[in-house]
Amino acid sequence: MPESLHVNGRDYLWPHDPTVVVCIDGCAPAYLEAAMAAHAMPFLREMIDRGTDLRAECVIPAFTNPNNLSILTGVPPAVHGICGNYVLDPSNGEAVMMNDPRFLRCGTIPAAFAAAGARVAVITAKDKLRALLGHGLIPAVGRAVCFSAECADAATVATHGIADVTDLLGRPVPSVYSAELSELVLAAGVTLLEQQAWDLMYLSTTDYIQHKHAPGTPTADAFYAMLDRHLARLDALGATIAITADHGMSAKHDAAGQPRVVYLQTLLDERMGPDRCRVILPITDPYVVHHGALGGFALVYLSDPADVEPARKHLSEDPGIREVLTRTEGCARFGLPLDRQGDLMVLAVDDTTLGTRAQDHDLSQLTEPLRSHGGPSEQGVPMLLNRRCDPARVPTPLRNFDAFHLALNATR
Ligand SMILES: [Zn+2]
Repeated sequence: MPESLHVNGRDYLWPHDPTVVVCIDGCAPAYLEAAMAAHAMPFLREMIDRGTDLRAECVIPAFTNPNNLSILTGVPPAVHGICGNYVLDPSNGEAVMMNDPRFLRCGTIPAAFAAAGARVAVITAKDKLRALLGHGLIPAVGRAVCFSAECADAATVATHGIADVTDLLGRPVPSVYSAELSELVLAAGVTLLEQQAWDLMYLSTTDYIQHKHAPGTPTADAFYAMLDRHLARLDALGATIAITADHGMSAKHDAAGQPRVVYLQTLLDERMGPDRCRVILPITDPYVVHHGALGGFALVYLSDPADVEPARKHLSEDPGIREVLTRTEGCARFGLPLDRQGDLMVLAVDDTTLGTRAQDHDLSQLTEPLRSHGGPSEQGVPMLLNRRCDPARVPTPLRNFDAFHLALNATR
């Protein structure tokens, strides 16, 4: 095996322990701090005392797909291409889900290691991410495995490198809207590591709990206590563990519990006339029960370039909007691909979300006051390791997509 691998412009040392990167979806650092304060995460408290306790910045838009792909590739969306869950396909102007590997512009770190002979496992909660996360991994039993908790019972040796996952774990497939979906990801990681010493593992949970429950609430603390028990087992199995998040999570409601929303399509249609623009919400995905497709980041596509400045002015006047950037400004600041952005990039203020029109959003299923993500208010994420990192090898600013770098290059 090689001493190191060069992947997407960065060098990664070959793992000498099983190396596990855990992405806790929607894990604002406050969740861990509150759970540790409530003595719900005794392992994590002990782990950071002997390991590394850092904060990092996620990618903007602070959404799931762009950040999971950044962590897995070690580079920003300008390089890997995945900049939302949902985008306008510039080739045909159609709004499409960006969960197809054809949108991916580089390979992943686990796929590169697998191709060089490492034993690699990638496990995600929701199946929407599986094709992207597993891109380039050629399934092989005991060598290259990728499956989702959501469709664990559909995994086959030929397509996922593993079969009979529910029997193996002794757990049924949980509801896609549950804490158990994330628990299955961690439990599967533990079980696989008990069977053999995998070289690289990526475990990615879902933010269903964080969308509904604030840090320090009993349900959130119980969720983190569950994670703590599994993390302790990974540590006991000798793994080097790096824990980060795809994005944070903030309250987006008023004192009465009603969601704070700026409906951008309505606003621009009223000020500029109909059919001048199209608002795209890159948070949109098939699982909208917990956020109603409302997040802190939106794109505006204008049919007439002369509308860019007037639209920017109208949007900037709304108190719910933090900042409006042109495509060039936004891509330069956030490291995003120029050909996959709108003419304008809109960021909401901390406690507010962006929608299209009220009638486009089904909020009837929001059973708790809205919590969501997307902008700079959710950019801070944890970066915790169970080993000490050499400070000279910690990048500044530290990004969540430095997780594999820290785990492989900075812990020895
Ligand atoms: Zn997420």
